[in-house]
Amino acid sequence: MLKNIGVLRSLSFILGIALLLSVSCSDRRDYVPSGSKLIILGFDGVDPGWMNKWMEEGKLPNLQRLKELGDYSELQSTIPPQSPVAWSSFATGTNPGGHGIYDFVKRHPENYMPDVAVMDLQPPELMLGLFPTSSAHGEVTRGGTAFWKIAADSGIHSTVLFVPYTFPPEDISPGKMMSGLGTPDLRGTNSTFTYMATDLTSEELSQPVGGGKLVKVNVINGEVATYLETLVHPKKNERIRVPLNFSIRDDRTVEVRLDERSTILKVGTWSEWLPFRVKITPFLKAAGICRCYVFSTTPEFRLYVTPLSMDPSDPYMPMSFPDGFSRELFEKVGYFKTVGWAYDTSVLNEERLSEAQWLEAMKMITAERERIFYSELERRDWDLFICAFTDTDRAAHMFYRYLDIGHPGYDPIGAAQFGDALESTYRHMDRFVGEVMDKYVDEETTLIVMSDHGFHSFRRGFNTNTWLAQNGYLFFEGMEKLLPGQEIPEEMYPQGDFFPKVVWEKTKAYALGTGQIYFNLKGREAKGIVKPGEEYDHLLDEIAMKLMEVRDPLNGKPVFSAIYKSKDVYRGDYISAAPELQLGFAEGYRTSKETMLGGIPPALITNNLSKWSGDHSASAMEETPGVLFANRPIDKDNPAIIDFAPTALGFFDVGTPPVMEGSSFFDYTK
Ligand SMILES: [Zn+2]
Repeated sequence: MLKNIGVLRSLSFILGIALLLSVSCSDRRDYVPSGSKLIILGFDGVDPGWMNKWMEEGKLPNLQRLKELGDYSELQSTIPPQSPVAWSSFATGTNPGGHGIYDFVKRHPENYMPDVAVMDLQPPELMLGLFPTSSAHGEVTRGGTAFWKIAADSGIHSTVLFVPYTFPPEDISPGKMMSGLGTPDLRGTNSTFTYMATDLTSEELSQPVGGGKLVKVNVINGEVATYLETLVHPKKNERIRVPLNFSIRDDRTVEVRLDERSTILKVGTWSEWLPFRVKITPFLKAAGICRCYVFSTTPEFRLYVTPLSMDPSDPYMPMSFPDGFSRELFEKVGYFKTVGWAYDTSVLNEERLSEAQWLEAMKMITAERERIFYSELERRDWDLFICAFTDTDRAAHMFYRYLDIGHPGYDPIGAAQFGDALESTYRHMDRFVGEVMDKYVDEETTLIVMSDHGFHSFRRGFNTNTWLAQNGYLFFEGMEKLLPGQEIPEEMYPQGDFFPKVVWEKTKAYALGTGQIYFNLKGREAKGIVKPGEEYDHLLDEIAMKLMEVRDPLNGKPVFSAIYKSKDVYRGDYISAAPELQLGFAEGYRTSKETMLGGIPPALITNNLSKWSGDHSASAMEETPGVLFANRPIDKDNPAIIDFAPTALGFFDVGTPPVMEGSSFFDYTK
């Protein structure tokens, strides 16, 4: 039913019939909870090391107060300790084998190609190419059952806001949900920015841009005529364009016309949210919003357009439950960013936005989310309230180079200016927690503050496929000419992504994603050669042992702290999607970005000069815990993220399904 609401909406437009199509939350009977209430505040990637340092320095007084009032512990993450995996285990109470999410990236054994593991979008179906018969929607990619769904089935009223990987939203009636990380932009991607300028060179335009698109524009008589590329037309396989025009008034102001609306932009400031509509057919439109930032008008015109958000007042695909909940939030707080990857790390990585501008945008988006948070918290129509923020993670990814003097991207001038970016993000979190404690936590309310994993410096990138080739496990064209023991000459390495020139008939193992090694298994992979049984087990032991011996030639340090064998650490219904080996990098190391997409560059280990300078996505779990605070005692040694589901269900006296592996970290018998 939920899937068809958008379709019905467009049909009602066609027929000219006013139908009440979306379920309005305010129509529901006003609910006043009578018993105990539970608030869970999640802060992605808060690292216990940095947090304790700043807490000891007296910079996080509210977290210190929460610790003294209740309790604090490190929180064991997942293997690997990264958001898609950890938040899925948070929701379902299972190891990755129980929900099937092992990384941002998954692979198709039939063709060895990578794919996004956590987003599967379906376009609308069109009758005669015109009339929508089903609406665009996200498909569920995670297995298992979230604890808020189980709680809902027992009548618990939950409000779930921006929890990572809750897209598509699920029916948690009588509760409400706004999807978080994983919600696509209006292009159907994780997050794609647009940068427009008159001075883009042909070389810049020919280079691939991670998470963005560069557009060269011309100024003719003070006018710029261009367009925004939006979603792919469901029938024509091309992106639908929305006209975007600028009139340069002077060197400080620009008039922008988007979808026939006109707004004045001031150079060097952020625009308001600009709404627009994408005409897919005369009977189907998609609504979007974006912000612009004009850097300059003369002598060069330069402009940034944020990733295009689906309009929360008229969502193109369901991103809240009930479907009308996002509109209700819009009516209370105005437009807000709905793209799950809320902070545009790509534009900073591509150096199209400065550090200062990026931090300003980060604060704006966090403020938007806090307005939504308070507007829902204040309703007090919930028993269980969960909200997650991701600025703590993104600031660490982007500014770690200024915290780590040994990072190749460290520079003292930048550090003097932006070295406190992460600390100030943690201090903001601390003030926020303090306000929640003071205004909303009474004797009936349990408050938990947590993070899903910790953080490390990402100084050097390890090319896993290169290592596999150098050790005889991966074979590409040309290697047949090598003499036994001969090193692979640099010029022999193939260029590009997606396993260029790999000879699968001679390849035993390959790497994809942020830290996974898959075997080329007979009967599973299209051209598999590794036989299950003895050969498989032997290869598993051999590669794991050899990797643990790898030292960085630069400093002699081990690159890995742990290598996990899938059969030892994963179990459950979704085990078939697991890699054979999961890497557990030591501090300072991560998989190179080339390896993520199946590249095989000549250098084994290279300096990471990217602004994306901190990471955790394939670090050893044991070295990457998150944090756990509560305003009551934590009655379990080594609590883990898989303990959340049984803890929350136990709180409401709802039984925990046997598939959930953890146990409550609160003792409810006390
Ligand atoms: Zn992260």
